[in-house]
Amino acid sequence: MAFSLPLEIVLVYEVPVVGLEVAESTVTIFGAVAVAVLIALSGFFSSSEIAMFNLPKHRLEGMVEDDIAGAELVKKLKDDPHRLLVTILVGNNIVNIAMSSIATAVLSIHFGGLLGVILATFGITAIVLLFGESVPKSYAVENTESWAIRISKPLKGTEYLLFPLIVLFDYLTRQVNKLTGSTGAIESPYVTRDEIQEMIESGEREGVLEEEEHEMLTRIFRFNNTIVKEVMTPRLDMTAVPKDAGIDEAIETCIQSGHARIPVYEGSLDNVQGVVHIRDLVRDLNYGETETEDLELADLIQPTLHVPESKNIDELLTEMRENRMHMAIVIDEFGTTEGLVTVEDMIEEIVGEILKTGEDEPVEELDERTVLVRGEVNIEDVNEALEIDLPEGEEFETIAGFIFNRAGRLVEEGEEITYDGVRITVESVENTRIMKARLHKFEVPSEDESDVDDDATDDGVE
Ligand code: ADP
Repeated sequence: MAFSLPLEIVLVYEVPVVGLEVAESTVTIFGAVAVAVLIALSGFFSSSEIAMFNLPKHRLEGMVEDDIAGAELVKKLKDDPHRLLVTILVGNNIVNIAMSSIATAVLSIHFGGLLGVILATFGITAIVLLFGESVPKSYAVENTESWAIRISKPLKGTEYLLFPLIVLFDYLTRQVNKLTGSTGAIESPYVTRDEIQEMIESGEREGVLEEEEHEMLTRIFRFNNTIVKEVMTPRLDMTAVPKDAGIDEAIETCIQSGHARIPVYEGSLDNVQGVVHIRDLVRDLNYGETETEDLELADLIQPTLHVPESKNIDELLTEMRENRMHMAIVIDEFGTTEGLVTVEDMIEEIVGEILKTGEDEPVEELDERTVLVRGEVNIEDVNEALEIDLPEGEEFETIAGFIFNRAGRLVEEGEEITYDGVRITVESVENTRIMKARLHKFEVPSEDESDVDDDATDDGVE
């Protein structure tokens, strides 16, 4: 075949001058059109490969379940991945090779045999790489689902059109795979974070994962979006001792508060110097070498970290583990102490609340539509418990913060606010602090009721 090209060229050259021009330009135009069509087909096959093999099984099943038009055909094609791959590869190779042959023929007319071959080789390689591979594949990566549906019909058509060739190559490749010992596993394990999350969801739906396992896995994914402010113990609840306190006083403070570690401050809580552990205090007081009257709290202070309230807890946990610290002091943008955070506070974000004896559940379910929550509970947890949609990520983190924000002032026990189909009642207040609130989700908010809600929302507290 390759030798027939120069013959054709000779024939063309024997045509009279005017005819020669017509013949040359016609061939060139036909050649260019053919190359353009073939490059489009090449792009079609390359993008099909990516779209079909990047589409995860579970997502495709979801599409079929949702009755998305064309999803069924995609599934049928993917049911035999080997046949599908052979179809795509046979199609792609035919068009790429045809393109290269045509280009060589046309370019040889203009530039002679050798130069024509060189130009066609490099020219077609560049064009195929760019428009037959790179561009269509990138597009298919971005639009996997929609593209897989679009190309499924033409792909099925190709399978019919090239049927004998595909059957032959299907058979041959399977035999070669057997000889080389290849498993023939074609679908690549391409996986993203979103896909893992979706799998966790479907895992629970289908009973592969226990509810508790599902909860914990979901929390792990949420972990790196959580900031210190959401998990810290607030300043008001901090138990700390001044630096000039005696060791026995510090021990007593630990025992009374039930905490093993307490921050030590100089002057005020805004100037925390470090942390003392009851173990060191007791050891030093009872078994130390220093005389009791010479013992000073300052000698037992362990350094601590001061971290901004906006720090991500996954980073902080790593830092604290590296520094072997169990407690960090949380400060705001002005350097004022906002609270403290311990390793346990962060671990609770994954394993769930670890309650001490006598400690109340942060969210107590009274009935299907009502919960009693502690004021410091995060809005996110309340939303999850009642399946409601109170605003998250604003300037407040907790349910108490939300109530104050809506009220715009201090509130008293028994006050109520209504927001988006939820009635929030302030159950208990200590000094100025909201300790507990009851949330009730209305049954089915009627038109009239939602009007009332809007008014109540605007007015804040009733
Ligand atoms: P402990 O067992 O000593 O209380 P953990 O690290 O187990 O310490 O923390 C349990 C909870 O108590 C966490 O929510 C933590 O923020 C809080 N906590 C620990 N120490 C103090 C303290 N000195 N003052 C206030 N809260 C504390």
